Amino acid sequence: MILAVLNHDYHYETENMCRIFFPNEKINLVYERGNYNENNVVETEIDGGIISVSCDINGRHSERKTDASAVENKELETGRLLYACLSEITGCVPPWGVLTGVRPSKLRTKCIREYGEDEAKRRFEENLLVSTLKTNLAASVSKTESEILSLSKPDSFSLYVSVPFCPSRCSYCSFVSHSITTPAARKLVPEYLDKLCEELEQFGKIASQLKLKIESIYFGGGTPSVLESSQLDRLCSQIENSFDLSTLREYTVECGRPDTITLPKLRALRFHNVGRISINPQTFSQTVLDSIGRQHTVEQTLSAYRLARSAGFECVNMDLIAGLTGDTVENFKESIDTAVTLAPENITVHSLALKRSSELAQSGADVEDGDRAVRMLDYAQNKLSGSGYIPYYMYRQSKCVGNLENVGWSLPGRECLYNVFMMEECHTVFAAGAGAVTKLKEPNGDYIERIFNFKYPYEYISRFDELTDRKESIIDFYREHI
Ligand code: SF4
Repeated sequence: MILAVLNHDYHYETENMCRIFFPNEKINLVYERGNYNENNVVETEIDGGIISVSCDINGRHSERKTDASAVENKELETGRLLYACLSEITGCVPPWGVLTGVRPSKLRTKCIREYGEDEAKRRFEENLLVSTLKTNLAASVSKTESEILSLSKPDSFSLYVSVPFCPSRCSYCSFVSHSITTPAARKLVPEYLDKLCEELEQFGKIASQLKLKIESIYFGGGTPSVLESSQLDRLCSQIENSFDLSTLREYTVECGRPDTITLPKLRALRFHNVGRISINPQTFSQTVLDSIGRQHTVEQTLSAYRLARSAGFECVNMDLIAGLTGDTVENFKESIDTAVTLAPENITVHSLALKRSSELAQSGADVEDGDRAVRMLDYAQNKLSGSGYIPYYMYRQSKCVGNLENVGWSLPGRECLYNVFMMEECHTVFAAGAGAVTKLKEPNGDYIERIFNFKYPYEYISRFDELTDRKESIIDFYREHI
């Protein structure tokens, strides 16, 4: 497909919009009108005070024009005209309209603050062309988030611990995670944990020097539960020895892959007062699990869940994904129904994002039809809200099927605080381990500074001293911004 961007700078937005409607199409950008030598052509232009869009795709034509002097935001208007043309040609009406950005609920909160509830709703639906269902979803998330955010204070912080190892690599995964079955990765683990403990100790000293109060801890990755119970015990003990945990409200460890969960590991975590774990089925269809290279069974998910309950975990999250290769709307509905029957406190519904680094994308797999994913998420929203769950956090990612969202659902009062704190960037997050990014948040303002750790474990180990040096800026940051 040719996308002609004529006399304006909105190439990023217009390309994204084309991608929402044609996710598997190769899009070639051109900046001059010409003999395109291509059947599928989208022209976007601002000329002589007129914004115009003209689309010829698969033998169908659609065009729109508007007077540029009559619009406040030309970029938005170009997107709206393009959206209208592509909807007319394809018959698809993507539910997030022309809304870009990863945090729709944050925008909703801002809009409500500035214009009030009714005008915020009108702006979402009429200006940004967001469906009523998604507008209401963003409003519900914004309401729950506001209550959680009120817990965060200027001297609050949270701690993220990265364990970038997994039992094997799933074909849709784009995280930097090493399969622990390879001898090279397995060999790295002990040294990795040594450095991780050292980094936790450093953060503990900094937190104490700055008199910061810990709110939440989150172990992510990767799959932290791939570690042995003694290794989990060591990490948790290090945290207890490094931080004053008297203000801690929540302690989560991702045990994403059910095939890593054992009773000794769960006991080790409970012993250290970990209160929330994630057991991620992704789907309850064995055929789909097999097709996404997720090397565990549905039965392993069910028995891991029973084991977690027997070990005393009272807050369990389950992740499901809409738009997985080989999944159907019916199968997805069954997965949601099964999760609801099990009644975990949290159910997080993701939309598949096929990033370039995933095995699936590299093999040239097509992105799932957005329309089917929309039906999947609509079902999830209706079923979960009808079963007592409330949406409490939400974000979008690039390359998400149908430009859709990821939503955390929770039984009331059981929301994951860390997810909200991190997503809304309301306080500092100290992040330890490979690939982790510390976010320093100005205590009484919005300014954020990031400190990046090395992405890969071997680099994290070999260049650890450089990370120690980077931490010196933390004290300066607080001195400067207090
Ligand atoms: S378990 Fe999660 S982090 Fe690990 S490879 Fe699979 S999707 Fe990626």
